Parts: sequence; structure tokens; C-alpha cells
Amino acid sequence: MISVSTALSIISKIRYTPNPKTVLLKDANGLNLGEDIISQIHMPPFRQSAMDGYALLLHDKNSYQIIGEVKAGDSQNYLLKPGQGVRIFTGARVPDDANTVVIQERVNRSENTITIDSEIHPNQNIRAIGEQIKEGDTALIKGTKLTPAGIGFLAGLGVTKVAVYAPPNVAIITTGNELITPGEKLKEGKIYESNSIQLETVLEQLHIKEINKYVVQDEYESTKETIRQAINDNDLVLISGGISVGDYDFVKEALSELHTEELFYKIKQKPGKPLFFGINNKTMIFALPGNPASSLTCFYIYVLPIIQKMMGINAIGLNRTTKIITKDFVKKGDRAQFLKAKVSGETVEILEGQSSAMLYTYAIANALVYVPEHIDNIEKGKSAETILLPI
Ligand code: AMP
Ligand code: MG
Repeated sequence: MISVSTALSIISKIRYTPNPKTVLLKDANGLNLGEDIISQIHMPPFRQSAMDGYALLLHDKNSYQIIGEVKAGDSQNYLLKPGQGVRIFTGARVPDDANTVVIQERVNRSENTITIDSEIHPNQNIRAIGEQIKEGDTALIKGTKLTPAGIGFLAGLGVTKVAVYAPPNVAIITTGNELITPGEKLKEGKIYESNSIQLETVLEQLHIKEINKYVVQDEYESTKETIRQAINDNDLVLISGGISVGDYDFVKEALSELHTEELFYKIKQKPGKPLFFGINNKTMIFALPGNPASSLTCFYIYVLPIIQKMMGINAIGLNRTTKIITKDFVKKGDRAQFLKAKVSGETVEILEGQSSAMLYTYAIANALVYVPEHIDNIEKGKSAETILLPI
């Protein structure tokens, strides 16, 4: 059995070089750019009016003759003499000769003449060509995580496809004779299967779309064959349950038989002691304990940094901070603990009901308090390491 810090250091040393893959811009949200994006155009591509008003060629009087109109999208240019101008609208092309745009609120118009009631200066309300970015300049650098704003920015430069670090294909293998799919009738001795949907949704939150689900009974041969298949078809395999030491837990034996390189098995922690991590033919494998709260905690603490590596993201796991605890905490046993908790402002409340089988507490938690192996209690008012859940 190894400590939490040893397990995390094994995870941190895993090397993974993700390959960039070209995807449609609209499918790139949440993914990291695998290339620098160079702008193919000036943005804006022409001198653009920033307001509704009048584009003028200034002279020394405050009245101007209006000789035409330019709407957004018009391509026409007007030749202006000093003292002339055009009606113009936001986003429209400013005539080459105009040297300022005066907003309509400052203007009195009578027929084709306007008078301006305040001082005006050159170069007002005109967005210069390439003001946002120039052709040939780098729009976003490799490694930038694309957000809706980033996607909008690139679309504004005419980009339709980008190379990103594509998320891994992930297998979820559920083991357990006792499991029934929600929607079916519950029978004696059975429970509803909840780990796979939990893992699937947390993967989807990470923008992973290719998820292959497998179900096996607690039976050696089919467990082994299913794991073999999942390793062949996926970059990351998550196995739920069957990794403990019971007579019907076959995952560990199957993984060994398939020549999986074991990187660790069993961590001195609560929940999630029987966690297994290994590699088989470049596929990363986690066998997660079946208890629903253990399974999710192991995912957040150990699987997430590996997925971040696979997606070219800084592999730091969830955000960690310190918060003041609201009640005395006394640890039972000598394992490190991840406790379901609720952060509110600068404080954190460790919730009642920490059993690894109990999901209600997790469902209302927004954080995990981490109590390392060597700490036995934390007094109310003292600070505790707090891991913020992505809710
Ligand atoms: P195991 O790790 O297979 O020994 O399972 C530990 C506990 O978690 C048992 O009480 C199982 O019934 C429960 N469990 C295992 N897999 C699931 C699952 N997919 N959904 C809900 N509970 C599960
Ligand atoms: Mg089981």
C-alpha cells in the first residue's frame, strides 16, 4: 500500500505526448489548441465606424454637407471634400477621405446639412484597419484552451477548423452481478447501477465525447475478455468495481493475465483504498473501487490529472485552496481522508455521512477536505486543505 503523495507523484511522472487533431471550430470548445493560429486577415478588414452618426472630412466650420449614406455591409466609397460627409452606421465602411465620425446625438440635421453642437476631433469613433489583429499575426498560441469567446474570436477571423489536442477515447467497464440498470424493475438482492452514468457525466464535463460502455458480470473469463477488448479500442479504460479482495473480484487477476504493467495498487486513503493504476500497450487503466463515492473521488484525484495530460492541459487536477473548518474534526484510523464538504466564503463544513457507499452527501457537497495521513485532528477555526469540486 502506498501513500496518497506517492500515488500522485507516480501520476505526475507519467509522460504523454498528445497528437494534435483537426476538428471543426464548433467542436473545439473546451479543448486545447495544438497549433498557433495565424490570422489570415486584418481585423477589422477596413476602417469601420464604431457608432451611428456621420463620417466627415473636417474643416474649420461646424456645419457639413451630407452627400450620401453608408450602411453596414455597403462597399461603396465616397470621395469627400473638406466640409463634406456621409450618414454612417455602426460597422459600416468609413469613406477613405473621412477623418472622423461624429455621433448622431451631437448633430442637428436639416435636409442635407448638419450642424454640430460640440467640439469634434480627428479619428474619433473609427476602428482602424487591423486594430484588433493584423494579417500574419498570431491570434491564439498553441496550448490555449478554447472557450466560447475564443471560438467567436477565431470565427471572426474566418477560421473554420483548428488542430486541438483531442480528448481520449474512454472505456467505462461496469462489473457487478448485483447491478440493475435504472428504469428496470428492482429485484431482491439487486441495486441500481449508478457509477457508469456518474463517470460518463464527469467525462462529458471534460468535453470527452467518445465514451464506450461495457458491462460484465462477476465472472473471470468475460471480465478478462471485456478488459482486453476495451484496452484495444480505447486510450483510457476505467473499470468500476471488482478490484477488491473478495472471491468474486476478478479485475486484478484479469489485468495481470493481460500483462498490464502495474503502477500502483492500493492507496492508504479513505475512501478508495483498492484503487489500481496501470498501463497496457499505451492504454492507461484505472480500476476504481465500486463504492460510488470512492469511485468518484478516485476519479477526481487520480484520473483527472491523467486526462489533463492526454488533452495537453496542465495536469494539476482540481483547484486546491485552504479554508477554515467550522467544526472540530477527529480522524479515525491512520489513512489519509478525502471528506465531502461544503465551502461557503472562507469557511468549509465537513459534512455528516462520509461512508463511501453514501452519495447523498456528495450530491450536496461542493468540495473535498483533504486530511493527510499524518494529521489526526483539525480544530475548529484552523485551516484545512480544500479541493474545489467542478460544479
Ligand atoms: P466492489 O468494489 O465491486 O466490491 O463494490 C463495492 C460496493 O459498491 C458494493 O456495495 C457494490 O454493490 C457497489 N457498487 C459496485 N459497482 C457499482 C455501480 N456501478 N453502481 C452502484 N454501486 C456499485
Ligand atoms: Mg463487485
